[in-house]
Amino acid sequence: MQRKIAVEEHYALPPVKAAGNNAFREDYLADIQRRLSNREARIEEMDANGIEYTPVSLTEPGIQGIPNPREAVDMAKRCNDHVYEYYMQAYPKRFGGLASVALQNPKAAGAELERSVKQMGFVGCMINGFTDMADSSKPLYLDSEFCLPFWEMVAELDIPVFLHPRVPHFSQRLALEGYEGIWGSAWGFGRETAEHAVRMILSGLFDRFPKVNIVLGHVGEALTFTLPRMDHRLRYQSNTGHGRHEKPAAAYLRSNFYLSTSGNARTPQLRNVMAEIDVERILFAVDMPFEKASEISGWFDNCEISELDRQKIGRANALRLFKLKR
Ligand code: ZN
Repeated sequence: MQRKIAVEEHYALPPVKAAGNNAFREDYLADIQRRLSNREARIEEMDANGIEYTPVSLTEPGIQGIPNPREAVDMAKRCNDHVYEYYMQAYPKRFGGLASVALQNPKAAGAELERSVKQMGFVGCMINGFTDMADSSKPLYLDSEFCLPFWEMVAELDIPVFLHPRVPHFSQRLALEGYEGIWGSAWGFGRETAEHAVRMILSGLFDRFPKVNIVLGHVGEALTFTLPRMDHRLRYQSNTGHGRHEKPAAAYLRSNFYLSTSGNARTPQLRNVMAEIDVERILFAVDMPFEKASEISGWFDNCEISELDRQKIGRANALRLFKLKR
């Protein structure tokens, strides 16, 4: 398929760089570092795989991994200015941006989001998981009341927020002691992000802001499988202990989430999310440079779905969600 829009594609800007678990092979890491910051190499890869446009986003943990609020606010601005100048202004037909913000200071996060969207034309925001705070034992999640000024601005600007994975907080890693190789994208990413999304759903955030849309990568971090089970069991519980949500948890997945194909070249999984949510809420993504566009595109362009669905997932849904004029 030509003219695809890929929605989870990352860059790095020193000193912010990709944090892994040191379990990756040297040759893989060297290739990632080379491709993270090279826009021409990115365009070559997009051209070779029928990808017309991507709103680039900062690699994990990005701004969320900077515990000092002032440093985090400054770095978010620097990153957004860099995306605007190096990607969006240089290649406006190929690159857009998902803004980085510092939730360490939610008012500043709202102001930076407003600046990025209104003055520079960013089409959304990316949050790389929980936010590191001055007290390292207390990570900040997006369901916290502390984040309210950020959500008010998201609702006012009417832009989607991509909730991207990061390596789970150190308090969560004991269960995988001895298996550090799966802390990150092989396993821990999905669990951490799914639980973060569950916190947002259960908190009633989407009853308060019913039009807010969250994008999840990796075909929804398995939530289409796990949320129906949650609802099945919560039937027998009193209202305490699982937040103030008004609807069953899985219902919010259909009303407030978009799921992308990043890093998952699996037709049965795609079919599952198409059945559980709506094809209108599925987006194409690769997860460059951590994934190869040839692998994800090669699968997506030929997987057994209708051509109409392929056009929706590969392009039309992203045009609508990010309000892209092209
Ligand atoms: Zn990613």
